[in-house]
Amino acid sequence: NAPLAQIDPEIADVLTGELDRQRHTLEMIASENFVPRAVLQAQGSVLTNKYAEGYPGRRYYGGCEQVDIAENLAIERVKALFGADYANVQPHSGATANAAVLHAIASPGDTLLGLELAHGGHLTHGMKINFSGKLYDAKAYGVDPQTYLVDMDKVREAAREHEPRVIIAGWSAYPRQLDFAAFREIADEVGATLWVDMAHFAGLVAAGLHPNPVPHAHVVSSTVHKTLGGPRSGLILSSDAETFGRKLNSAVFPGQQGGPLMHVIAAKATAFKLAGSPEFAERQQRTIEGAKILAERLLADDMKDSGVSVLTGGTDVHLVLVDLRNSELDGKQAEDLLHAAGITVNRNAIPFDPRPPMVTSGLRIGTPALATRGFGATEFAEVADVIAIALRDGAGADVEALKARVTKLTENFPLYDGLVQ
Ligand code: PLP
Repeated sequence: NAPLAQIDPEIADVLTGELDRQRHTLEMIASENFVPRAVLQAQGSVLTNKYAEGYPGRRYYGGCEQVDIAENLAIERVKALFGADYANVQPHSGATANAAVLHAIASPGDTLLGLELAHGGHLTHGMKINFSGKLYDAKAYGVDPQTYLVDMDKVREAAREHEPRVIIAGWSAYPRQLDFAAFREIADEVGATLWVDMAHFAGLVAAGLHPNPVPHAHVVSSTVHKTLGGPRSGLILSSDAETFGRKLNSAVFPGQQGGPLMHVIAAKATAFKLAGSPEFAERQQRTIEGAKILAERLLADDMKDSGVSVLTGGTDVHLVLVDLRNSELDGKQAEDLLHAAGITVNRNAIPFDPRPPMVTSGLRIGTPALATRGFGATEFAEVADVIAIALRDGAGADVEALKARVTKLTENFPLYDGLVQ
């Protein structure tokens, strides 16, 4: 029963070091967030001890009476949150949820049609060396070279040409909303199953600030830890339990996974409860507002000569894609510069990127974590100004002055106040 610091001081140091890092920097990685302490508590609980292969009421282990309650709560809450007819809350992550979806709705060798990885798609949507590209015949649609938007006429053309078994709508780096009704129309026309991966924008959907894919798609997958603000994990939904429910359940377990992580499922239930609250909706509103403020600042007059631009000229979601093709900075240099100023972002390939993936000509900057931290329009304007000046001034930027402004913001918005790790 000795505490972690005594048993394993090296790992204890990692925990305190990471808490310190999160407190003293500005987290702007679009896929990250800060979970509430209630979620940390559920996830760090004795439920981690329990084996519960199977589903509530149909387990392969005894002693599941408590974890059954947790899983049923998670299922009912997430169904209500997104208006779904079916939910599976067992996927350990977004990638395993996606593996299970494909396992359920396609067979090896079938054709998939998803958004090109280099244009904002995800690895699990058909990347060559991912399971999705190895097991399936992956084809892709891209964004328009002028507008950088997904052009539904091009998607229709690609669907008619490839006659995919599965059409995938969803993204990891795209600053606008997709037209799910149009995707479904195309899927119906070519006899494909429509799968929407809403990992990035699920929180916006839950808040009613983004179209809900559930009524349009056959199957929807998501992560729980991005805008949705819960524990690191995945989920699967469907509007048609009768057609897809049994297939999806059996694809998750025993198809892809063994025992579910019951401590994480309990934490998901708590996160879904919170995601239905007015406070959550208000936070998502600030998330989108912050991203819009950042896009506008990066397009302001003083940026004109810097070569810094914003893909699609703005955003409707929680992230901004910065186009550095004409800037003196490449993606790696820009990421490092902001890191030196105390702002964490990730470099990101942009469509038609001339630079290699480890360098890139883009940045993906997201606002969910700072909105959770309490940032509103005033603070987002301040952080947007810091980012704009850093990118504008490049190698000549006064990093210490920018860092002092970041520190002020972190001090004004304490994180996990009083928490000791
Ligand atoms: N799907 C999309 C669209 C994503 O952006 C991500 C993560 O970046 C995933 C799935 C995978 O989630 P995980 O990292 O939990 O496996």
